[in-house]
Parts: sequence; C-alpha cells; structure tokens
Amino acid sequence: MAFSAPKRRALDLPIRPTRVEISEGALRRNFARATEAAGPAQVLAVVKANAYGHGAVQVARVLEDAGATLFGVALVEEGVELRHAGVKSPILVMGGSYDGGYGLMVEHRLTATLFRREHVEGLAQAARAAGVAATAHLKLDTGMSRLGVSPDELGELLGLLRAARGAVELEGFMSHFANADLEDDPLTPRQVARFREGLRQVRDAGFNPRYRHLANSAGLLGLPGLADGLDINLVRPGLMLYGLTPDAWLDGRQPLEPVLTWKTGVIHLKTVPKGTAVSYGGIWTAPRDTVVATLPVGYADGYSRDFSSKGEVLLRGRRAPIVGRVTMDMCMADVTDLPGTRVGDEVVLLGGQGAEQLRAEALGAIANTLHYEVLCRIGARVPRLLVP
Ligand SMILES: *Cc1c(COP(=O)(O)O)cnc(C)c1O
Repeated sequence: MAFSAPKRRALDLPIRPTRVEISEGALRRNFARATEAAGPAQVLAVVKANAYGHGAVQVARVLEDAGATLFGVALVEEGVELRHAGVKSPILVMGGSYDGGYGLMVEHRLTATLFRREHVEGLAQAARAAGVAATAHLKLDTGMSRLGVSPDELGELLGLLRAARGAVELEGFMSHFANADLEDDPLTPRQVARFREGLRQVRDAGFNPRYRHLANSAGLLGLPGLADGLDINLVRPGLMLYGLTPDAWLDGRQPLEPVLTWKTGVIHLKTVPKGTAVSYGGIWTAPRDTVVATLPVGYADGYSRDFSSKGEVLLRGRRAPIVGRVTMDMCMADVTDLPGTRVGDEVVLLGGQGAEQLRAEALGAIANTLHYEVLCRIGARVPRLLVP
C-alpha cells in the first residue's frame, strides 16, 4: 500500500493567531536530562498522540537530530506518519497489533508489540509475504492489566515465537508500570520482580532480546538505578521530554522545562454595561461596566468548555479571567483591569508570558483532568510552530 507524501495542511497555516509554539531548545535539554537520568540505559522517546499534542513530526525530527535513536508510538498509523515525514530511526508501536496493520508495519519497518497468538501469526505471515524478518517486542503484563501476555501464558507464546523464527525477530521484552507515579506504591517492586522473572523465562527459552524495558517517566524519575543497563537497558519517557513530571513528588528530580506555549490573540474588544450577559446561556453577567476581549480559540481546539467562567489567560503579562461559556471556536476574557489592551495583543492560554505562568497541571485541575490530557487535547486545527 502506497501513500503519497502529504501536502502542507491548510490547517497548519498560521493565519488565525491561535497556535502552539514548541521550544526546540527546551525539548533538546529535556531529552538530555532523560538521557542523563537513564544512566547506562538507552532512551526510547515516546511521541504517541501527536507527541502529547506537541506535533509528532516536528518533535521526532528535533529529537532525532538531538541523538534520539528509538521512538515509541501507540498506533501503526502514527508510525507511518513519522516514516512519511522521513524519520529513519526504529519506531516501536506500543499499542499492540491489529489485523490490517501487519503489512504496514513490515512495509514501514515499524517494530511490533506482541502479546497474543494472533499477533505472532499475523506478523510472521506479513513478514514471510514480504520476504523479510519483522522486529518485535514481547509484552508481559506484570500488573497493569491492560496489554501484555499474562505470566502463565508466556511459555506458550515463546513457543510460537520460536516457531516464527526467521520471520519474527524478538528484539525486545517489555512491560509497563501501573503505579510508578504513586510514591512507594507496593505494586511497583512487584512489577519489577515479575518482569525479571519473565525475562529469565525468555532467556531460558533461548531468546536474548536486545532491549528490556518497563519504565515510563515516573519509573525513570522515581526509581533511579532501576535501569541498570543489564536486565533493564531501555527506558520509555514521554511526559518528561515535554518538560512535565507525572506527579508533584517527582518535580525537581531533573531540571525540566515545559516545551509548549499555547497562544492566541485578541480579535475583538468591546465595553459592555453592567448587567450584560456574555456568551451562550448567559451564565456570566457583567458585575460592572466591563471590557470584554474575544479570543479565537474554543473547545474544538481543545480549549475545554470546563474553562467557562473558570479559566484564566495571560495578557500584557497579567492574568485575565475567562467569562461566560467557552464556545466551539471562541471564548471571552474580562480585560477591564488591563487597560491598554488592544486588538492584536498576544494572549497565552498555556505557558509563560512575562513573569506569569499557566501550567498544564493548573489547567487540568480546573477541567478535572490530568496535565497529560490538557496537552493531548490541543486540537488538530491548531498549527504547531517550532521556535528556538
Ligand atoms: C505513554 C507510554 C509511555 C510514556 O509514559 P509517560 O508517563 O508519558 O512517560 C511509556 N510506555 C508506554 C507503553 C506508554 O503507553
């Protein structure tokens, strides 16, 4: 199956002032921090979900240039997108395997994650049809209960992999932490023990997987020394590359810098008299004569409707409250206390302006969700621009 190289998306044209800026310098420095924290282990840079909203293609290109040698995505589709963009490094498809994906994984040299009989068979079949050996990582469920073969079925899968030798090369053995973001959670050491036991079984079956890994950002930051370079020689940070930690107790373990700044601009200004309702449903009424700024960003861009009358933006280096409902394409801010505001002024939705900062953690708290989701939700119609 061939795809033609995509044209520049019209949605990437930065015409509307709403955009995401990605700091190349911050991204490079965070990657260096991850590499340092990994010690003797290698780093697989997780760029799934459009690199947590940062723009997978730009992020992967920068990281590849910064020395990243392995990438992780959730979907075959995401891996194919990176190949189309010219990313050459190995890409692990962590979210599992599906019918219809094996041929594409082989064609684009994507590394499969296997944990079911049909994964091994499907991949082997596609590899034989193409006359190549496909690479794969075997995933063990050590306590997350999401993906992975259960320990009691590992032996059977290893038997299948032995039969598929020549078509499927077992390059890695992996698992995934469920609670590494919780301080001193007893499941974490149990998962490590199950992982080591599984690895022993893999080796006893005659396999010597080049990569052994189970740590996300929380595992990398919270368990220094875990990746000993022997049994565990690869780590898979996502969030920390983007300059955030999974939970506050992990802050300060490495000096990380947020990479993303989400900006828009004032496109309309008006003074409304006291008592005027603003936006759909009239949930907010001006308590005084109020200067209202209209911003061209809404929930279709991932700016949550939960920010209605609760969010804040930065303007002229100060905070301004969102008033009334966030609509699909627009929202309004009260700028009465920011005299001198003009149409065209830059507005920061997430990130820093002057001495003020709006962090993804704080936005998540308002919207009853995680910083991870705040980032991932930034929509497809917001252009991502690389800045120094
Ligand atoms: C998302 C993901 C990661 C990265 O998690 P972070 O918490 O962002 O570091 C690592 N491994 C797997 C399998 C994942 O799905």
